[in-house]
Amino acid sequence: MDKELLAMLVCPLCKGKLKYDREAHELRCHFDGLAYPVRDGIPVMLPEEARQMDADEKLPESPGRLGEG
Ligand SMILES: [Zn+2]
Repeated sequence: MDKELLAMLVCPLCKGKLKYDREAHELRCHFDGLAYPVRDGIPVMLPEEARQMDADEKLPESPGRLGEG
């Protein structure tokens, strides 16, 4: 997906920044816990089309936190 297009996209609910998951073809809002589908390269920015993420998917990706302390 186009990086510039991605930078313009925000969550329609909270207007927050979205994170693109290349493998799942989803745009994820970690604030709402929703994943918006990307169909044929076109983001579907509709809350009713979005998928509720699982609790562990909502966590921001932060490698290197393990072993802290
Ligand atoms: Zn949101």
